[in-house]
Amino acid sequence: MSFDFYDIVTDVFSFLNASTIDRVLYKTPFIPEFLNENISRAVAPDGRRILQPIWDLRIGREDFVASPLFPVILSVTFYFSLCTPFMICDLYGKNWRWIQKYKIQSTLDVTPAQCWDTLVLTFWNHVLYILPAACAQWVWTPPTPLPDLAPTLFDFVWHQFAALLIFDFQYYVWHWTHHKVRFLYKHVHAIHHRYHAPFVWVTQYLHPWELITVGFLTTTNTWFFNCHPITTWSYMIVSIIVSVEAHLGFDFPFTLNHLTYGFFGGAPKHDMHHLKPLTNYQPFFNHWDKMFDTFCPVMSAGGVKPPDLLEYERKVKETKKVR
Ligand SMILES: [Zn+2]
Ligand SMILES: [Zn+2]
Repeated sequence: MSFDFYDIVTDVFSFLNASTIDRVLYKTPFIPEFLNENISRAVAPDGRRILQPIWDLRIGREDFVASPLFPVILSVTFYFSLCTPFMICDLYGKNWRWIQKYKIQSTLDVTPAQCWDTLVLTFWNHVLYILPAACAQWVWTPPTPLPDLAPTLFDFVWHQFAALLIFDFQYYVWHWTHHKVRFLYKHVHAIHHRYHAPFVWVTQYLHPWELITVGFLTTTNTWFFNCHPITTWSYMIVSIIVSVEAHLGFDFPFTLNHLTYGFFGGAPKHDMHHLKPLTNYQPFFNHWDKMFDTFCPVMSAGGVKPPDLLEYERKVKETKKVR
């Protein structure tokens, strides 16, 4: 269970060692194989891995963590624990300047009635769809096999990043379709757009079909990579964090959209999607929106419109006049 600096150094060095230039030159055309070869070597000489101390926390709790119910309990508990503090800030912190100065649509208040409305639908979605799905898994799915070894750090990170990128593309297509096909928008996705100013509970304010799609895609994407259980669970947590962050309604200076040079969309981008629903379909990143010209520049904290957004709005106005 001990975790020392030696583990980190040996893990990183053994990975670098495996990435010799000739290996890269010979293997790059076959990326998965190349990655796998390197991953298999990203282990400390004594066979231990950086994540081993965390993975070893399962010892003594194997029955609980191997149960098909564990991922459901983990994600539901995490979702409610993550959202509750932001709900408190929205409802009781209207005069807390330290947080309210980051509000994007600062003129719109979150009310108890809105929280109640979103929580009621979230509750029924959990009772009618998530709970039966969890029970079915409990009955029909065998316990998760728990390997002795933790995944390598590299494996752990790239599997999650790749699964997130795949989900991001899948949802972009789903989302675009559910805005463009009138029937699908009216009967499915319009529910999520009842709120023009998102707040945390809007994250899962979804039609059951959207909830099932999102749940199915999130679960199955890790199957492509034969992920280690801890990678799968972490990916579920990361997916919840980025989805909730998209609906925060706050543009904090330390979030990924400020740290990734425009690669990550974050709260301001999805906030803009709720304001201008025919833009910014991509949930987490920006590349597909920019490639297919569905990107709309975003408003920052305090409702500030930067020059690129003003220019975008001017162009849209002009196009409408010409029509
Ligand atoms: Zn949304
Ligand atoms: Zn939408």
